[in-house]
Amino acid sequence: MKWKKIGRILIIDKNLEDAYIGKLGNLLKEHNVDTIAKITGINGKMRKPSVQVLAGSKSTETIHKENGCLFKLDISKVMWSKGNTTERMRIANLVRDGEVIVDMFAGIGYFSIPIAFHSNPQKVYSIEINPESYFYLNKNIYLNKINHRSNKNWGHDVIKPILGDSALITPNISADRILMGYVKTTHNFLAPAVNSINSGGIIHYHETVPEKLMDTRPIKRIKKAAEDREVEILGNKIIKRYSPGVVHCVVDARIL
Ligand code: SAM
Repeated sequence: MKWKKIGRILIIDKNLEDAYIGKLGNLLKEHNVDTIAKITGINGKMRKPSVQVLAGSKSTETIHKENGCLFKLDISKVMWSKGNTTERMRIANLVRDGEVIVDMFAGIGYFSIPIAFHSNPQKVYSIEINPESYFYLNKNIYLNKINHRSNKNWGHDVIKPILGDSALITPNISADRILMGYVKTTHNFLAPAVNSINSGGIIHYHETVPEKLMDTRPIKRIKKAAEDREVEILGNKIIKRYSPGVVHCVVDARIL
């Protein structure tokens, strides 16, 4: 991929900068963007990007539109994964009327916003540990008029943003569906998810895994966390290639 467009910012592949030196002014016009930047890394458990602005406005804040929803974000403070676009909409379409949902790694509302926008859950608890992501989560709830709209159906705000650690907060909620949209150490959060999920509820468990272990390791981990509860695997699919030989997959598991 040479570049991706996030709102009015063009993110250029970090290895391609030299090829485009001297042509960045043209790229600004061609792509109708205000800023060209490159992301040199995504760091730590909060997935904070390292960003270098190459041309145009120095502002790294923008509004991105995806699946009909608006996402305000600062690309130097919070990440945006283009590869998860289809998954975000798939989950929104699975939600049935009246569900109680926990989004354990809510970020700026990557999943919570499309769910509340396109479906009709009774409540989405959107837990986020990074105050900067939490700031944009609140902005995006407002920007998409989520709670204003949903008040009519349920008499209360549908998305409840919570700043804190989902490992501690999730077990206090009884959920019909839990989103575990996080990678690398997601398995450490399976026990609190199992504690929270109602009988018959569904967990969407993400894992970065060597492709050859994709059909075994994530499922073993879910079953281990479920202890004596029965687990029905509804699906297991690749969201994207993560690194050579490693995939980012999502397992849909019903816990009885
Ligand atoms: N699934 C998303 C998507 O579709 O693009 C990406 C997820 S994302 C960037 C992961 C988020 O989880 C980050 O915002 C990070 O701060 C948050 N996070 C990490 N550990 C957490 C924890 N223990 N509790 C709550 N949020 C956490």
